[in-house]
Amino acid sequence: MPEIRDSVRRMCADFPGEYWRKLDRERAYPTDFVQALTRSGFLSVLIPEEYGGSGLGLRAASVILEEIHRAGCNGAAAHAQMYTMGTLLRHGSAEQKTKYLPAIASGELRLQAFGVTEPASGTDTTRIRTFARREGETYIVNGQKVWISRAEHSDLMLLLVRTSARDDTAKASDGMSVLLVDLREAVGHGLTIRPIQTMINHATTELFIDNLKVPAANLIGEEGRGFRYILDGMNAERILIASECIGDARFFVDRASAYAREREVFGRPIGMNQAVQFPIARNYIETEAASLMVEKAAGLFDAGEPCGTEANMAKLLASEASWRAADTCLQTHGGFGFAEEYDIERKFRETRLYQVAPISTNLILSHVGTHVLQMPKSF
Ligand SMILES: Cc1cc2nc3c(=O)[nH]c(=O)nc-3n(C[C@H](O)[C@H](O)[C@H](O)COP(=O)(O)OP(=O)(O)OC[C@H]3O[C@@H](n4cnc5c(N)ncnc54)[C@H](O)[C@@H]3O)c2cc1C
Repeated sequence: MPEIRDSVRRMCADFPGEYWRKLDRERAYPTDFVQALTRSGFLSVLIPEEYGGSGLGLRAASVILEEIHRAGCNGAAAHAQMYTMGTLLRHGSAEQKTKYLPAIASGELRLQAFGVTEPASGTDTTRIRTFARREGETYIVNGQKVWISRAEHSDLMLLLVRTSARDDTAKASDGMSVLLVDLREAVGHGLTIRPIQTMINHATTELFIDNLKVPAANLIGEEGRGFRYILDGMNAERILIASECIGDARFFVDRASAYAREREVFGRPIGMNQAVQFPIARNYIETEAASLMVEKAAGLFDAGEPCGTEANMAKLLASEASWRAADTCLQTHGGFGFAEEYDIERKFRETRLYQVAPISTNLILSHVGTHVLQMPKSF
C-alpha cells in the first residue's frame, strides 16, 4: 500500500488547488484529472486481471481515494467508475462481462452513473416508480430520477427500475431490476439529462425517461432481483466514500495544525492556545478511530464476508470526523478560512455532502438500532 499512496500523491501534485478552484468557478468537470487517473490504472483496480484490471481489493481502492482527498483533490468525479461495475462483475452474464469489462478497465467506456434515487421515493428505494415494461426483446422504460451524478460524463449507466409493481410482489424489495443503459444511444431517444446546480461542483443531474427502449439483453441477472444486486455495490460505495472522508479529515487536520503552528497573534503561535490546539488533536483522534472502522469494513468486503453494518458505521464515523475537522480547520484559519485561495471553504462544502449521500446519517443510525440492536423500526 505505501507504493500506491506514493504514486497517487505524485499524480495529485499535478492538480493543485488552483486547478480545482478554476473548475469550481466554471462549474466544469475535471476531465484532465479523470484522464490522469484512468491512465494510471487507478480506476480499474477492482476489475479482475482476466478483464484487464489489476484485480486488487477494496482496500487498495480505498487507499487511492483517501490519498486523492488528502491531497486536496476530489475523487467524486470518477469514483463510481471503480465500483459501479461491481454489479456487472458479480451478477452479469459471461457475455456481458466480456463485452463491457475490458473496455471499462481501459477507460474506453465509462460506467460511472448509477440511477437509483427518485424525486418521490427518497431514501425508501422500494417506492421507486420508474417502470420497465417488457415487449419482446425490448424493455420500454418510463419514469424520472434525481441526483444522478456524472450522467453527462458517462457512456453507460446502471438503472434501477421496477419490473413489477410494489403491490404485486411478496416483499417490497422484490420486483426491481437492473438495466445497463447505453447513454450514447439513449440521450435524445427517450432520455433527457438536466444538470442540477448545487453548492458543490458535482456534475449531478436529473433524468427524464419517456418510452426509452433498452434491449432485454442489457438486463443484469434475473428480472425482479435487482435490489439484491445493488446492495453489495452500495456497501462498496459506502466504504469508498468513507475513505474519501478520511482523506478529507486528514487534509483538514494537516492544514489546521500547520496554520496553528505558524500563525502568530498576541506575539505567539495560535496553536499554543489549548482552545485552538485541543480541537485539532481531537479531530486527529476521531479520524484515526474512523479509519480503523473503514479498514475493518474493507477487510470484510475483500474476504467476501457480510459487511453491511461495518460499511454503514465506517461511513457515519468518517463523514462525521471529516465534517468536524472541516469546522475546526475553518475556525483555526479565522477570516482566511473563507478566502478561496486556501481551498478550505471548498473542501468544507464538499465534505458536508457525505452526511447526506449516498446514505444519510439517520438511516445508518436506524440500521444499527434495528438490525444490530433489535429495537423496533420507526418505518
Ligand atoms: C450531490 C449529490 C449526488 C448524488 N448522487 C447520486 C447518484 O449518483 N445516484 C443516486 O441514485 N443518488 C444520488 N444522490 C442521492 C442521495 O443518495 C440521496 O440524496 C440520499 O440517499 C438521501 O435521500 P433523499 O435526498 O431523498 O432524502 P430523504 O429520504 O427525503 O430524507 C430527508 C431527510 O430525512 C431524514 N429521514 C428520512 N426518513 C427518516 C426516518 N425514517 N427516520 C429518521 N430520519 C429520516 C434523512 O436522514 C434526511 O436527512 C446524490 C445526492 C446528492 C445531494
